[in-house]
Amino acid sequence: MGGVKRSAFAAKQVQLRRPTMQASDGMPLLAPNARQIAEPSSARPLLIVAVDTEAEFDWDGPFLRTLTNVRNLRHQAKAQEIFDRFGVRPVYLVDYAVATQAEGYLPLKEIIQSQRCEIGAHLHPWITPPFVEQLSDRTSFSQNLPASVQKEKLSRLTEAIVSNLGVQPVSYRAGRYGVGEEIAEILNSLDYSIDMSVQPGIDMRYRNGPDFRKAVDKPYWFGGRGALLEIPATCGFVGLIAHPAFPKSLSVQVYKQIARPRLNQMRSLGMFARLCLLERIPLTPEGVTSSELRRVTSMLLSHGQRVFVLSYHSSSLQPGNTEYVKSAAELSQFLARIESYLEFFMGELGGMSMTPAELRATLLPRESGVAGPS
Ligand SMILES: [Zn+2]
Repeated sequence: MGGVKRSAFAAKQVQLRRPTMQASDGMPLLAPNARQIAEPSSARPLLIVAVDTEAEFDWDGPFLRTLTNVRNLRHQAKAQEIFDRFGVRPVYLVDYAVATQAEGYLPLKEIIQSQRCEIGAHLHPWITPPFVEQLSDRTSFSQNLPASVQKEKLSRLTEAIVSNLGVQPVSYRAGRYGVGEEIAEILNSLDYSIDMSVQPGIDMRYRNGPDFRKAVDKPYWFGGRGALLEIPATCGFVGLIAHPAFPKSLSVQVYKQIARPRLNQMRSLGMFARLCLLERIPLTPEGVTSSELRRVTSMLLSHGQRVFVLSYHSSSLQPGNTEYVKSAAELSQFLARIESYLEFFMGELGGMSMTPAELRATLLPRESGVAGPS
């Protein structure tokens, strides 16, 4: 009996290391090529605001099934009021805790009913049934789970969103950005058409995460029929090493080295930033100043980038949940950063805002050979 149990357990561990569903035979997600890039025709820069709308949990703590408090959702109106003034419709990428508890989904329902936002899905595997995996840092990245488990978890999350929020989500962002090639099949089968998980230039393999070094920072098509749109997160490398005279791969390689956990304990990231050698700035009001947001946007714009994604976590709007907003004063500063960025983007840059679904609808007619969802 004991021997049978052990071998069954061993088989399960092997399965966890090797996703069962094969990568799509179409355009890859993690290593796109020029043919996949989807350029919007608008000369105006486009802004998408994406909110990871999720339970409050300790980002440094262990992954527990019980971390499902969603009190932060009642605070979303503070940022939504700013978006409303600028005509920005954010996408709230909702996790299972938010989609299944009234305290989570009711505040969003009001915003949906007045058509002031779009709803997407955000999968945190450790709080999303079925609960079949052993909890660990590794299994908190859903691409490390068997594809059948990834699919079942996303299916349960989708059902909860449809039944409690009354909308079919089309955009997806993996929790902790944990995506692999098999996500194309899964998204197609559950009627999603957009992924927003890719973090260009980042290699997260040292912590069991995905390797995004080959991903590009522009939207691109992927998947079997090439009908899925990737809208990668926006981030930019700035500094001497990121000078246009050098290949971008140099920034990625150097950043990978200086961001290694051991080296970074010696503050290599801070040192490279202070010396103006290299700094990676993600487009977020979390831990990034207004002037940095402007600087990275202007730099990317001058390099021809047209689509920008401003991201943050819903839990940052309730002081004390994230390291970025620990007090009421920091929350005011956080909201002021959002407002000043929108003023800059819509005013100074003459930009406009779209939801992910609107961007995809804009891009589709221009692309030949893209079937689009049936
Ligand atoms: Zn998340």
